[in-house]
Amino acid sequence: MFAAGKLVTGTLPDYATPQWGSRIGQPTQNEIKINGVGYYQLIIPLKNQHGLAGAIALLQSSTSVKRNTWQMIGMLWLITGASLIFIFPLVWYFASSLAHPITALSGIFRDLTKGNALTREELAQIDRSRLRHDELGELARSFMSMNDAINQKINLINELNASLEQKVADRTSALVAREQEARTVIENSPDSISRYLPDGRRIYANPALIAMTEGGEDALLGKTPSESPGGSNAELYEQKIREVFSSGRNKQFELRWHDRFGREVCSHIRLTPEFDLAGNVVTVLAIGRDITERLEFEKTIWEQANFDILTKLPNRQMFYDRLQQEAQLVTRSGKSLALLLVDLDHFKEVNDTLGHDIGDLLLIEAARRISRSVRASDTVARLGGDEFTVILSELDDTAIASRIAQNIIDKLADPFMLGIEKTYISASIGLSFYPDDTNELDVLFKNADQAMYAAKNSGRNRFSYFTQDLQEAAQIRLRLTNDLRTALSGNQFIVVYQPIIELESGRMHKAEALLRWQHPERGMIDPSGFIGLAEETGLIRAIGDWVFQQAVARALIWRSYIPDFQISINKSPAQLHQEEQLSWTDYLQQQGLDPSAIAVEITEGLLLNPEPDVNARLMRLRNAGIQLAIDDFGTGYSSLSYIRRFDIDYIKIDQSYVQHLETDPGDVSLCEAIIAMAHKLDIKVVAEGVETAGQLDVLASRGCDYIQGYLFSKPLTAEAFFQQYMQHAAE
Ligand code: C2E
Ligand code: MG
Ligand code: MG
Repeated sequence: MFAAGKLVTGTLPDYATPQWGSRIGQPTQNEIKINGVGYYQLIIPLKNQHGLAGAIALLQSSTSVKRNTWQMIGMLWLITGASLIFIFPLVWYFASSLAHPITALSGIFRDLTKGNALTREELAQIDRSRLRHDELGELARSFMSMNDAINQKINLINELNASLEQKVADRTSALVAREQEARTVIENSPDSISRYLPDGRRIYANPALIAMTEGGEDALLGKTPSESPGGSNAELYEQKIREVFSSGRNKQFELRWHDRFGREVCSHIRLTPEFDLAGNVVTVLAIGRDITERLEFEKTIWEQANFDILTKLPNRQMFYDRLQQEAQLVTRSGKSLALLLVDLDHFKEVNDTLGHDIGDLLLIEAARRISRSVRASDTVARLGGDEFTVILSELDDTAIASRIAQNIIDKLADPFMLGIEKTYISASIGLSFYPDDTNELDVLFKNADQAMYAAKNSGRNRFSYFTQDLQEAAQIRLRLTNDLRTALSGNQFIVVYQPIIELESGRMHKAEALLRWQHPERGMIDPSGFIGLAEETGLIRAIGDWVFQQAVARALIWRSYIPDFQISINKSPAQLHQEEQLSWTDYLQQQGLDPSAIAVEITEGLLLNPEPDVNARLMRLRNAGIQLAIDDFGTGYSSLSYIRRFDIDYIKIDQSYVQHLETDPGDVSLCEAIIAMAHKLDIKVVAEGVETAGQLDVLASRGCDYIQGYLFSKPLTAEAFFQQYMQHAAE
């Protein structure tokens, strides 16, 4: 309020002097002394229109001013002191109320930030009591809640991260392991594995492929299949790879190629496209499996299933397939088909005498000869054993079939040179035509079979057509077979006895027991009409035992008339192939008949039978004291060593040699030789079928021991035989 001014000391007249103010016309303030008393003077000029008109001077004692000032200052101090007393706590209060939550907040923040990841428990442990219930506290609390939530989320994320990391680590190690496994598999795979680029070049080859190809890995990598391993099918392989690249689809095929040893290999190739992320085929993986052995194995299996191992001809299975195919063909073409059933005659004897190895050679050679006798389009098959079939297809003329059949017979009639052995064989052939005879293939086969048997029965070494008569005969056979089953229980059999005369003495002390069937409708049937059926059905064993029992009963009686009387009984091979139902030796003992009263007639072939059981059964008879005779001698194969081994007592010369003794000097020589040989071996000879005195003379002059034939007597019933011979003997 006090403007700076010049202190003027003077008297009151000094008052309002112009020099009081240097700035005339403007208010001036200064300090003056009046009467020694100091005053503060404020001069306020008064102006009018002419200028300065006067001035008003305001005086105030400077003492009072000063006092006032001091008072003011004191007041001010008072006020300041009071202010300090009141304001400081206030400020402190406000400051602390402001600072506390911030401090608490910052403390909490410090706590929160001291670790990177506080657990939920750690968060819970943070002292929240420090927070007040004011806005900042609320703020801090909500912040903390938010922080809690964030922390929980962070923890959750951390946990997730950790589990993800664990998963990634696990997956990675699993992938590594799998990759290792895959590598091991690929490296050790027996399959060839390779990878190709779109230009056909190979970028990978596994060890299996490398091992198979010439030049190893270097020769394979970067090369196309044509370049390595090359070969005629490489181009085809490349073509397939190109197709997989363009189609994006798998491809499989079989490829033949040559491995580094020059071996032809057949691989089953599987081509698989490999894609990039954009779906383009970038490479093609080729996996090749060597199926050469499997194919060969399958081929062998197929051959074994369809071909005969010995002759390499189609077997029964293949034959039926071909027959069906050919039948369909001729059905369409309207032509004919001929089925020929070829059976080798007496092949079993070749096997028995010369052994199975030679028998096999003969079959192979026979198969070759039959195959050569037919056209290339015809089928020759082996059904088993010595049985062959020929399918002559597309025949315009059925007469061709008979020419081919005769051709086969002629070819087989040529001598067989088997090693050092020279052997002869013949064949019987049955012919049947499709569809002429039948249009059923099963029936066609049966017809040919019947025709073949007809050829055999008519003397073998010939062919026979299937005829209606044959079919009727076959039907009769079937009916007879059924009738035969009840013949024994129906007492329909009769045993007749044919005397055998000792030439030297003229005595009749032997007879042969021969079977007859008194059929209720067909009358008397000779053995030739049913023995074969009985053998096929196995009934022969029971029938044979019955004949034996009949003969034993007769011998027991007749021996009382002729003490050395002997009855010979025919025993067919079928009876010796199986264990006997009745023990003949035991039966003889039970009946009290001397075994020498019985002789057993067997065929030559049986002696050669290699089966030990058959040999043993024969030996049992022999050892029991039953005499053995070889029936129909000269019609089959004989072995002198076997004749000696079984200590044969009689040889019965077959009637086919006896028949022509008067006309055929060859047969005379044969009989002579047989008799001489037999006598050397201490064997007696019986000549069968002696019908004439001339035959008798020849035989007698050659030293034959016994004769049997119509010349002397036909077979007689037991009663007739008894009446004719026993009564006479008793006289
Ligand atoms: P086999 O053992 O050779 O018997 C001789 C056959 O010749 C008998 O024929 C007999 O009747 C006949 N025969 C005898 N003398 C003459 C003759 O002068 N001229 C002619 N043409 N034939 C004569 P059969 O009785 O028809 O017997 C035929 C075959 O049947 C027998 O031949 C024999 O192998 C077999 N057989 C006969 N009975 C039985 C039997 O009980 N069991 C077995 N397994 N086979 C038997
Ligand atoms: Mg006989
Ligand atoms: Mg005989």
